[in-house]
Amino acid sequence: MPSHKLPTPESTHQEAPFEVFGYAPAPESTSIVSLAERYDCFINGEFTPPHSGSYFPTINPSTEEVLAQVALGDSADVDRAVTAAAAAFPAWSGLTPGERARYLFRIARIIQERSRELAVLETMDGGKPIKESRDVDLPLVAAHFFYYAGWADKLEWAFPGATLRPLGVCGQIIPWNFPLLMLAWKIAPALATGNTVVLKPAETTPLTALFFADICQQADLPPGVVNIVTGAGQTGQALVEHPQVAKIAFTGSTEVGKIIQKSLAGRGTHLSLELGGKAANIVFDDAPLDQAVEGIINGIYFNQGHVCCAGSRLLVEESVAGILLEKLRSRMMTLRVGNPLDKNTDVGAINSKMQLEKIEELVLSGVAEGADLFQTPCTLPDKGFWFPPTVLSGVAQSSRVVREEIFGPVLSVLTFRTPEEAVEKANNTPYGLSAGIWTDKGSRILWMSNHLRAGVIWANTYNRFDPTAPFGGYKESGFGREGGLHGLLPYVEISR
Ligand code: NAP
Ligand code: MG
Repeated sequence: MPSHKLPTPESTHQEAPFEVFGYAPAPESTSIVSLAERYDCFINGEFTPPHSGSYFPTINPSTEEVLAQVALGDSADVDRAVTAAAAAFPAWSGLTPGERARYLFRIARIIQERSRELAVLETMDGGKPIKESRDVDLPLVAAHFFYYAGWADKLEWAFPGATLRPLGVCGQIIPWNFPLLMLAWKIAPALATGNTVVLKPAETTPLTALFFADICQQADLPPGVVNIVTGAGQTGQALVEHPQVAKIAFTGSTEVGKIIQKSLAGRGTHLSLELGGKAANIVFDDAPLDQAVEGIINGIYFNQGHVCCAGSRLLVEESVAGILLEKLRSRMMTLRVGNPLDKNTDVGAINSKMQLEKIEELVLSGVAEGADLFQTPCTLPDKGFWFPPTVLSGVAQSSRVVREEIFGPVLSVLTFRTPEEAVEKANNTPYGLSAGIWTDKGSRILWMSNHLRAGVIWANTYNRFDPTAPFGGYKESGFGREGGLHGLLPYVEISR
């Protein structure tokens, strides 16, 4: 670890070129969320105490306050959940497609009805700003269930002439950055195609999945169709190793994705992996620069940069690099960092102490390698885990902050002179999840898109999601697609 100390955000302070408005506090009330002291696993339609008798705390990362104790599921709990899912499979897959669709529509409607409660809970457990959980996560969660409910009774038209068969019990393991949205991306297509599931939420953000279990009960979903086993990495590992699991769908780090792929080698288990990324957000000299600045901000500071497809490498054409960075810094002066439950907050808390330490270590390594550091001037709360929006410029292609996924609010800036050089630099990464292109020319967007090795490419926008659009990676960002018609494929066997 480099011995440098990061300057405090105040010491990088520049005078804003205009007056930054003060906002009165506008905290969202938490009274809508009623939390139990402790939560059990959800197995066969019932909340079931864990075999180990052990529980672990989940905290609010913006206050470090314990929200609840959560069951530490082990391989015995995973086995019970898989057995319940296997027992539920014949009846669930044997329902008429219309009946299955009705359950999914019901779940989607309940999510809409309870969306404020779920948004507040997501912000409390994970630290993301309420305006994101309320206006992005929750609407997308409901939209995902509605979208796949729509497919459930139309599967024969999804792939004309083909017969689709569900796979059986699907083990699904999700990360902490979009807890309920990742649950929706996994559970909605699996159920629509007639599978049953066992889901393992992330250790730091299990609560919305447990509230989703309550929604399954409210929707009268048959017992065993959805099972939720909370716990740590070992709980996920037990799910991967269970012989009755027909498919594993994993979203998380490339490191764990590789472990899972190795442990499944030689078995017939289906696998889809949605892993990390280090996306290039590429700005040409003819781009509308003010819009590009908004796209850069949204690309890297949305959800504190805890986004697999975050635009974490800014590639800017050399001739406009100076002016663009000036505009970017001036826009960063207006970002409000702090209480995620405040409706005015733009950047919330870092999800965990561990993640904060990882971000700090990587940024220090960038500074030690000679990067210029700029941070939004702000006073960070005393409690909780925080990192100010950060830009590292003057970095080399070989620098760790350009190569490694930081998964925090940190943007690394590189320049280029020709489209060919932009493509070369953008593709020079083991990842291949997403990219952004900012230019006035449609032909250049098409040329760039054909040459970039990225699963999702946004043009003159960034971080836009829609349930009808497939999402997934190339190279070490994984394989298999979630969303859209493509998102049905990982959950079926097709014969023609
Ligand atoms: P992670 O450490 O890989 O964990 C992901 C999930 O796997 C968690 O539920 C984790 O449990 C569990 N897990 C850990 N070790 C395991 C093992 N050996 N076997 C089975 N499961 C295991 O990733 P993370 O830190 O939570 O999430 C951040 C990463 O996810 C980033 O790299 C990001 O890019 C990626 N991500 C990708 C996408 C995408 O769509 N491509 C979307 C979101 C995030 P614990 O929580 O208990 O550790
Ligand atoms: Mg938490």
